[in-house]
Order: sequence, then C-alpha cells, then structure tokens
Amino acid sequence: MRTIRYWHDRLRHPRRYRELAQLLSVPHMSAAEVAELQAQRFDAIVRHAVSQTTFYADHYAALDVAVGQRVRPERLPPLRKHQVREHLDAMLARDADRAAVKLGHTGGSTGEPLNFYYTREKHERMLAGMKRGFMMSGWLPGERVMYLWGASRDVSGRGVFAREASNVLDSEMSLAAVSYSEANLAAWCRKLQSWRPVLLYGYASALAELARFMLDTATRPPASLIGAYSTAEMLDADQRRSMEAAFGCKVFNQYGCREVPNIAWECRAGGMHVFSDLVLLEADDAVDEPGRLLVTSLSDRVMPFIRYAIGDSGELVDGECDCGLPFPLMRMSMCRHNDLIVTPDGARVHPSVLNGLLYGMTAIRSYQWVQLAPARLRLDVVCEGRLPSSTIDDIQRGLQQRVHPAMQLECAYRDTIERTAAGKHRFVIGLG
Ligand SMILES: [Zn+2]
Repeated sequence: MRTIRYWHDRLRHPRRYRELAQLLSVPHMSAAEVAELQAQRFDAIVRHAVSQTTFYADHYAALDVAVGQRVRPERLPPLRKHQVREHLDAMLARDADRAAVKLGHTGGSTGEPLNFYYTREKHERMLAGMKRGFMMSGWLPGERVMYLWGASRDVSGRGVFAREASNVLDSEMSLAAVSYSEANLAAWCRKLQSWRPVLLYGYASALAELARFMLDTATRPPASLIGAYSTAEMLDADQRRSMEAAFGCKVFNQYGCREVPNIAWECRAGGMHVFSDLVLLEADDAVDEPGRLLVTSLSDRVMPFIRYAIGDSGELVDGECDCGLPFPLMRMSMCRHNDLIVTPDGARVHPSVLNGLLYGMTAIRSYQWVQLAPARLRLDVVCEGRLPSSTIDDIQRGLQQRVHPAMQLECAYRDTIERTAAGKHRFVIGLG
C-alpha cells in the first residue's frame, strides 16, 4: 500500500520529487564535500543578490566582491527584520517572474509582522526538504503523515479537520490544531487511531496537548507511529517525555521558519543537524544578543535572505554525530515560547490564531497580546502613528469569529515591548 501511495504522491507532485532526488544525493557526500558545496552556494547567492536586487547592491556597497575570490560571510552585515519590512520590493530579484511571485506573511513567532515574496518553486523545495527531514526517522515517502497545523493561513474554517484525507491513497492529513477543547482532542484521537499515520508533525504545544489528553484518557497510540516532529516552538524535556509516553515513539525536534524553512532536523541519534546544503547557519555573538542566530537561504533566488537575524538564539556544536550524516550540528538555546489563550468556555487557543489576525500589517513594528480576563485581550503595539479605527474593528471582528464571540479588544500604544528575562520576545502572555 505504501508503494501505491508513493506513486500516487509522486505523480501528483513531480517537481517535489525531482527536488527530493537532488536533496537525497547530499547525505552520501562527506562533511568536507558538503561544506564546499555550502561555500560555493553562499558565494553564488551573494553575487546573485548584489546583481539582481537594489537592496543588496546598497547593503553591501562597501564590500568589494572580487571575481575569483569567495565571499566570506563574516564580512557581510546582518539583515534585520526592519530592513526586510522597509525594503520588501527592493529585495525582489529583477529576474524573478513577477506573474509567479506570491506574497507570504510571517513574523508572528517573534511578534514582528513581516511580508516576503515566494514562488511555487520555493514551496515545493520546502516540502521536498521536509520529506528528507522525515526520512531521518526511518519514514519513507508515501507513508502517512498527520499534521497538526495551527497557522490560520494554512487552515480553512474552524472545523476539527483542516484537510481530511479524501481517499485511501492520500498520504497526508491536517488537523486544525488551534483550539484544544476536550471535544476536539477526542476527535483527533479517534482519527489518529483510525487513520494510523506513521508520523505526527505539529507545534510543540499542540503535540503536548494531544499527549496530555491521551495519557489522561489512557488512549493507546496506533502501532504505526514511528515518530512525532515538534516544530516552531521550544520543546522542553517534560513535553518530550510525555509525548514519548503518549505516542509510544521517538520525538524529534525540527527548526525552521516560513521565510527560511528546513534549517535543522533532529536525527535518530538525537543530533540536531543543520541542512547545510540549503542554509548557512551562524551564531553571532553580538553584545546585545549573545548566540543570536543568523540564517542564509542558499537556494532562494527570488527574494534572497542573507545573514538574516531570525530572532532565535542557539549555538553551533562541534563534532560528529553517531548517525554519520555529513550535516553539522547545532543546539537551540532559547526559542519561541508563548502562552495559550483560554476562552470564556475554557477552550485553549493556540497563539497562531492571534498572529493571523495581524498578517500583513507591517505598520506594526512589534506587538504583544496580553490576556487580562477570559473575554478581555489587550494588544500592545509599537507602531508608526496610530492604527486606523477600521483596522482595530477588523481585529476585533476577527477575534470574535476565530477565538470567541464574547472577546473584547483593547489596544495600547507602547514605545517598546519588554523582553523576558531570557531576552526573548513573548508575543502572547496568557492568564497564567
Ligand atoms: Zn545524527
């Protein structure tokens, strides 16, 4: 059956499988060969960015990129989120096919809304990279993956299922994992047992809620499961333990973002491997933000992201992993941590719903949601001028539609948003 699903998937997504075939040649290379490939690709992407975008031509104006010499990353200034916001169009490559370019939205994870350009090609490459990441668990293309998606852009409607597998050949199913009511959790458990996926993939908090429910109700996991992938949020040791107990399989961490996907994937031996053929990851010891991660996409030519200060911190780790993969190792030291919102009827709602309400509002420099009472939320914003009242009405309406009909919004203008003790921006503070 897996083979039939594999061919079904492959025939439906030929571009994705072409990308995957190319990606799968890299793990057979030596670490030195991958490092060389990475250096070549970094040099090429910088030259492309300088020649094809006005932003990078200006940003690197002081740099003399001599022919025949490799560009060294440490000589280039980092790319800050405010620069992406201010120079969006100037970052779009002149040779990009304007008819094929789409506008994506992100930044919710660090409380700074951001738009970016992408193409179908980038999207397909991202999904191919995810397949390679999944294969590190022993999963094979065509085997079933159940996604617990929270981001409202990816989830239509407010039903229990975002996209239900419509026929027996489908190898993917998505749950609209934004509202963790006991009824939703029970429905997901039933689906998990009847659909029998090989992998689970979702936000750390979504997987943790599902695991808690399964342990509380003594629900047995399907024997088919070999791995659960946690993404987008800090995965702590307690969460990992309870997920492993509930799902009866290994839990893997995964790191990436919408603008630069597939940064690092955990292997079966527990190493967090940087996909160094796709990205260059640097830990920049800036005085104000020690361990600040800078990431470069080595493949994104439509809108290059070079030495992008992604807003997370971590470190690169020397040495080799027992698994023998040629990709270098990293460790997250602190990444996104947020609270859930609790509605007046007791459902816990994932913060991605709140971020989705602000997608594309790039006048907002930075924000934080603070829940004051079950039906009262305050939105603290740092922004240029004031938000138009129609915008505030839209956010209020969105809250009532997507979170709870009784939800009331207050808006407060701030000069700055305070960071946590760990220096991290939390964009949702719950009732605690
Ligand atoms: Zn490894």
